[in-house]
Amino acid sequence: MLDVRGALAAATQRLGERLDAELLLLHVLGKPRSWLFAHVDDALEMDVQTAFSALVERRAGGEPVAYITGRQGFWSLELEVTPATLIPRPETELLVELALARLPRDAPCSVADLGTGSGAIALAIASERPLARVVATDASAAALAVAQRNAARLGITNVRFLQGDWLAPLAGQVFDLIVSNPPYIEAADPHLAHGDLRFEPTTALAAGADGLDAIRRIVSDARVHLDPGGWLLFEHGWEQGEAACALLAEAGYVEVFTARDLERRERVSGGKIDLIATRSR
Ligand code: GLN
Repeated sequence: MLDVRGALAAATQRLGERLDAELLLLHVLGKPRSWLFAHVDDALEMDVQTAFSALVERRAGGEPVAYITGRQGFWSLELEVTPATLIPRPETELLVELALARLPRDAPCSVADLGTGSGAIALAIASERPLARVVATDASAAALAVAQRNAARLGITNVRFLQGDWLAPLAGQVFDLIVSNPPYIEAADPHLAHGDLRFEPTTALAAGADGLDAIRRIVSDARVHLDPGGWLLFEHGWEQGEAACALLAEAGYVEVFTARDLERRERVSGGKIDLIATRSR
């Protein structure tokens, strides 16, 4: 009779990754991670063993754990993800931190999240700032459906979802803050053909020859959608900080900066709409 310990040992050997094995088994059992500590000696039913083996084989075939379980943690939230959405990454929490630092706790404010995918950034901000009015856009109806289900399941009611490219659905609207984790990988980057990236939507990952197509568009289009003193913040690749700052400065943003993630890699850049310059827009 196979117990939890034995099943995890075998799966860890197959996958070369203990955490993946644990997440897949807990998904089959419908248990939280904390359950494991007290239950490694529990026997596993045959049907559980069979279901677990099937998931382990899918993972061994390269499918991301988050797409197999349909779940990914981000910020304080557990999100549904599907192959229609990018899998939220821990480094994107830096963008959320930088956004929250610019939003009042006790006053209303307006925020737009462009290319929201699973809704990760919009929902994290909305959950921390209940008075914020958040709008999240995405070109993909399938991704927006996932984001809307996440909002409903988490009981987050201060986010509206609109379908369209970047700022296209926001004609005539202005915000205190615009955030985005756009695609930024170079179209010819060999990483796109490896690991989890193979399974994620290319439209959420790659953006033209230099990876900056979406960022160029967002930097130029966001200006007229920002209130005087409003901020644009976006994620980018670890070698794109300089290019991102140059684009922001050329477009007339001020206080332009790049911030590094926990691995000390350039990850987020931003700029502000000057109070004075704005008048002559
Ligand atoms: N950071 C992701 C990666 O390189 C890409 C996410 C994105 O393009 N926005 O795996």
